[in-house]
Amino acid sequence: MTPAGRFAPSPSGELHVGNLRTAILAWLFARSTGRQFLMRVEDLDRARAGAEAEQLRDLTAIGVGWDGDVVRQTDRGPRYADAISRLSAKGLTYECFCTRREIQEAPSAPHAPQGAYPGTCRGLTAAERDLKRAVRPAAIRLRSAVTEATVHDVLHGSYTGVVDDFVLRRNDGVTAYNLAVVVDDAEQGIDQVVRGDDLLPSTPRQAYLASLLNMPSPEYAHVPLVLNADGARLAKRDGAVTLADLALAGVTADRVRDALLGSLGLPAGPLDQVLAVFDPAALPREPWVWRGVALPGA
Ligand code: GLU
Repeated sequence: MTPAGRFAPSPSGELHVGNLRTAILAWLFARSTGRQFLMRVEDLDRARAGAEAEQLRDLTAIGVGWDGDVVRQTDRGPRYADAISRLSAKGLTYECFCTRREIQEAPSAPHAPQGAYPGTCRGLTAAERDLKRAVRPAAIRLRSAVTEATVHDVLHGSYTGVVDDFVLRRNDGVTAYNLAVVVDDAEQGIDQVVRGDDLLPSTPRQAYLASLLNMPSPEYAHVPLVLNADGARLAKRDGAVTLADLALAGVTADRVRDALLGSLGLPAGPLDQVLAVFDPAALPREPWVWRGVALPGA
C-alpha cells in the first residue's frame, strides 16, 4: 500500500475556517512527503444530510483534493465488528451496562486518572451480566492492561496520556470513534495523521489499541486550533466562518485559502506552489485567532 495521509471530517455541518486550516495542513504534510492523500467521511455519528457534499465542495474550492474514492465509515461496519471479535477472542473486551450518570457518580478507583472509566463492569460474573442485559443493552469496552501510554508527535514531541477501559462499541450498536479510526487508518495504509490538537488526549488510547490489534501506529502531528476573539474554539456561531458565509460577504475561496496560509507563515497561492517552502518545524505552535478576512479597502 502506498503510504498516505488523510483528512477525516465528521459530516455534522459545514466546515469552518478552523477545519479548513487543518485540512490544508494535512494536505501539505502528506504531499510534501510524497504520500497519497485520502478522504474519509466519519459518518458513524452526528451525520447531517447534505453536509458531506458541502464539505467536499468546500475542500475542493480551497484546493484540497484527494486520491481515490471517498471512504465512508458507515460502509465499513464488518471491519469494525471483525476487529472487536479479534479482541474479544483474546479476552480483551467486556460488556458494560453503566449509564453516563452511573459512571459520573461511581467512586473512582484508587490512583485512577481523572476521567478514566472506574471499572464498574470489569469484574461482573456471567450471571450478573445476564441480569443486566435483560434491562439494558451492553456497550463493549476494552480490557486495558495499562493506565497510560506515550506517543510521539511531530509538533508536541513525547506525549503521555490516559488509557482506560474505553468504549469500542456503544450500547446503541454504533462503533466508537477510537476503534473505527484505528482500524481505518491501518487498513487504508495511513501512516501519517494530521489533525486538530483537541484530539491529542485520545491518541495514547488509539496507539495502544493499534498495538493490541497488531496494527502499526501512524506518525502523528496535532496542529493548533483556530480560536474566536474570546479565546474559545471557533464555532459556527462565531459569524461568517464558512466558505458559504464568506462568499456572501464577497470573500472568495482563494482569499480564504490565502488568509489561512498566511496564518501559518506560508505564502499565498495554489497549494501545490506552497509545497516547496512547507516546513513543519517552522509552523506556529500557538492557536490562531480568527478575526475575519479584511475586505479590499477596508
Ligand atoms: N472526525 C474527527 C473530527 O472531525 C477527526 C478524527 C481524526 O482526524 O482522527 O473531529
